Amino acid sequence: MEREKARTRLLKILDGAPTLKDTFLSPDDFESKRQKMRTVLADLLAATFEDNPAIPPLEWVLARDAITVLRNILSARSERLAGFSFLRYVNDLVTGRDLHDLPAPAPGFLAEVEHLVRGVMGKTGVYEGKAPAFSRYEGVKAAKMRSVELSRMARTVNKHMARYPCGLDDEVIRERALNKSRILEHFGATEWEWEDWKWHTRHIIRDADTLRSLVGLTEEEYEAVSLARAHKIPFGITPYYLSLMDKDPGRARDYAVRAQVIPTVHYVTRLKELREHGDRSMDFMLERDTSPIEGITRRYPMIVILKPFLTCPQICVYCQRNWEIEDVYSPLAALSGEKLEKALQWIAATPEITEVLITGGDPLLLSNAKMEAILQRLSAMGHVERIRIGTRTPVTLPQRITDSLVKSIHRFHSPGKREVLVVTHFEHAYEITPQSMEAVQKFRRCGMEVYNQLVYTFYNSRRYEAAFLRSRLRLIGVTPYYTFNTKGKEETDEYRVPIARLLQEQKEEARLLPGPVRTDEIVFNVPRLGKNYLRASQHHDILTVLPNGRRVYEFHPWEKKLTLVDTYIYEDVSIYEYLQRLKQAGEDPSDFRSIWYYY
Ligand code: SF4
Repeated sequence: MEREKARTRLLKILDGAPTLKDTFLSPDDFESKRQKMRTVLADLLAATFEDNPAIPPLEWVLARDAITVLRNILSARSERLAGFSFLRYVNDLVTGRDLHDLPAPAPGFLAEVEHLVRGVMGKTGVYEGKAPAFSRYEGVKAAKMRSVELSRMARTVNKHMARYPCGLDDEVIRERALNKSRILEHFGATEWEWEDWKWHTRHIIRDADTLRSLVGLTEEEYEAVSLARAHKIPFGITPYYLSLMDKDPGRARDYAVRAQVIPTVHYVTRLKELREHGDRSMDFMLERDTSPIEGITRRYPMIVILKPFLTCPQICVYCQRNWEIEDVYSPLAALSGEKLEKALQWIAATPEITEVLITGGDPLLLSNAKMEAILQRLSAMGHVERIRIGTRTPVTLPQRITDSLVKSIHRFHSPGKREVLVVTHFEHAYEITPQSMEAVQKFRRCGMEVYNQLVYTFYNSRRYEAAFLRSRLRLIGVTPYYTFNTKGKEETDEYRVPIARLLQEQKEEARLLPGPVRTDEIVFNVPRLGKNYLRASQHHDILTVLPNGRRVYEFHPWEKKLTLVDTYIYEDVSIYEYLQRLKQAGEDPSDFRSIWYYY
């Protein structure tokens, strides 16, 4: 936005907070203004604690939170950590001093300032209308009125959820049977071969032309896949997963399925550049710094990750391990026998480890015999009381979950002594099929738990979309476990969702579901350190808002009360841009209007 126009807009926004505006426009020097702002905010905070009937009760909470956030943003410490002074920037814009030397504020910056001002003044307007009528009554009358209100809320939830397709819908099952026939015909294969997981791994679709001959592709999809292959960026789709895609490339229903595996041109181009420069930022979780020995990652006192197979039957575009995956289902991806032995010996010699997460990649691409041998070794270690198997094969290749595999794994699940459980990765209800349900049920029928880790991306972040997934997962026997923010840097921007949206989803959507369905914890994975529980607001702070409209957060390590570990600074994606993208996708941004007041 042009700077003069931005200045006019900013002054108009500040009309909503006259004391702040007067402070900015006063002839005082910068540090005096900072002091005055602090006093103004302290007074405002004190006023919110007075019993002010002019501020409705819940607006009071929003005002308190907004004032706390703005106070933190104005502090010299936040400026140092973020490397940017919000106060100086706004001051320079408002006073018009050296205006043309300033970076122009993005619309997202002005939107953040506007909502901060509204929040601070207790005028968010989030709560429309009056308090529900039942609050003025008691007894059965109040209960009946509340019941009507609750039914209204439930209908709203159902109306939203009804928009999303599920792979268990009869119509979808019928269409997928046709997709399967088309794919089998293309490969000249039989129904019997379709049930063989090795047939699928032998026929992974790895190039744009084969893909285009099986499903419609947009020009951009075709170009992105071609570029990915040209630059050796892992790409592949199992025939089974391809059968989940609709033939029409319009992405009306299968947007989440396509986005899982078909990269964008932007992603491929950025990844290529990062690789060429050997950019360490690709290893977002800094696994290199948490791996005491090849094949092992350790971020917690009692848990380790064992990675015997560093690839998957297909690669999720946003995968946090994309920096170390050589290719889809590559024979070079298995940890050598010698290295695996050393990793197992390391676990055996570390008695503090009680839990081993076997992941990768996808360890269920190993043969039954290899899987069994690893489980045998771990089970012989008296200190290992839980083994988690991290696998997406129930979603990408459910044929892999054979009776004999389940038998090999279940052998080591021994209640009271050792638990073996499965953690899988469904991203959308459209991925749930009768076949994936059967794969899950095979584990459940023999008493093993199956959990889900959801990565919250743009493609499953519409209103009640993740809530719908959770509700369907419970019905097929999967317990929602974690919801992760999407990791990565600019290459995955198209997938990332503002932290405020994860918080909003938990409070306004997941919270409406019954307890057994909303079991997952929303987490931000702090590089090198591990999970930060987002719903605990005391575990992160907003340091600033940058001219590009992105918030900068400070994350506290999970062990902050136990040991002196550095905090982690993170630049989020812009809320404004996220809402614009939702709008382009046909959503109404006003449905998300409270997002600005989650911090
Ligand atoms: S299933 Fe997990 S490890 Fe495999 S590509 Fe997807 S995110 Fe990466």
